[in-house]
Amino acid sequence: MIRPAHPPLPPGSTIGFLGGGQLAAMMCSEARRLGLRTAVIDPDADAPAARCADRFARAALGDASAVERLASSCDAVTIDTEHVPPEAMAAAARVCRTSPSPSALAQIQDRLEQRRLVGRLGIAQPRFVPVHDDATLRAAADGLQFPAVLKARRGGYDGRSQAVANSAAGLADAWRALGRVPCIAEEFVRFEREVSLVMTRSAEGMCVPYPLAENEHRNHALRLSRVPARTGPAATGAATTGAAAIAAEEIAEALDYAGVLAVEFFVTSGGSLLVNEIAPRVHNSGHWTLGGATVSQFEQHVRAVAGWPLGRPEILFPAAMLNLYGDLWSGGHPDFDAALAEPGARIHLYGKRRAEPGRKMGHVTVLRRDPEDAVRAAERIEAALLAGAAVRSEGAPA
Ligand code: AMP
Repeated sequence: MIRPAHPPLPPGSTIGFLGGGQLAAMMCSEARRLGLRTAVIDPDADAPAARCADRFARAALGDASAVERLASSCDAVTIDTEHVPPEAMAAAARVCRTSPSPSALAQIQDRLEQRRLVGRLGIAQPRFVPVHDDATLRAAADGLQFPAVLKARRGGYDGRSQAVANSAAGLADAWRALGRVPCIAEEFVRFEREVSLVMTRSAEGMCVPYPLAENEHRNHALRLSRVPARTGPAATGAATTGAAAIAAEEIAEALDYAGVLAVEFFVTSGGSLLVNEIAPRVHNSGHWTLGGATVSQFEQHVRAVAGWPLGRPEILFPAAMLNLYGDLWSGGHPDFDAALAEPGARIHLYGKRRAEPGRKMGHVTVLRRDPEDAVRAAERIEAALLAGAAVRSEGAPA
């Protein structure tokens, strides 16, 4: 769909970010390189983007008047997290252009609405049943096979607010444990692989995908991404990439979305794709583009939000991206010597002072001509960091 967009923002314009995590920090750095100014709002004065932005406001993301104040000093506003409260997004949209729009964000924030959107578009996804009372809980237990996955409709990420149930009783227990909040129950997919398609859409509707990333999760959170995804029995070849890109394009168009959007898929043993989740923002599985592609996902998003022409990213090297979680900080600051010594490795540390298990503290991208080499190097780095954390923990006072 080609439609008139807002006029492009001139250099010197200000992009506002709702949320100041590492995604906003990396977007701020790219925006600054492009001659744009940045303003960030976050409740944590120590948030990663607080150090990178031209202006920082400390306030809760649900504080609609603080968000409106920030937005009125910006030329466009975007998000670092999809968990921005809808009233705040609406407050921003009253005073300047936003990406995503409040209505697109509202659809994505609710897993049930996400699933309904994907269903309306005829794109394959796991079977699901909404759960919000005892009757729908019974309908889920009757309608799905076990194991099944129960997910809160709102607020979950990295496996938070979700549980696997092996029986009707287990599903009822899981729903109670989640506080009987509105949920969806879905079939447990015995996937061959998980992949994601990171794509940028301009306000005029032009779509530019990155190659498919193959993602390995640990405890439901992303451990390692490799790009390009392997081809093999679960054909993640050109046809799969094409199908993923078409699905992402249809989703982005239905949301009238401008910016970077990621769609996570399960790949079944037969090679078909099932949509797991949509992220209306830059994505962890696209971090490799910083250094691994001529135009990063962070720059693409800023360009789309500013109404600038999108880049045509060339891939410089195959990449392996390893997330660094707070667990590695147990017993003290990690020793990054192994990572620093590894050829082709780039370390990104987000500057978070508080390390907690499961908290993303940084990532390492290894770029190599041979993708297997990149993965092996990332695994060597991970092994060295884990060994260091174990030694420090043993030495730490009880
Ligand atoms: P999510 O927060 O929905 O992205 O889930 C996090 C991770 O949990 C996914 O990347 C999968 O590894 C796993 N997972 C989520 N939903 C399912 C499912 N329906 N079947 C199997 N694994 C799942």
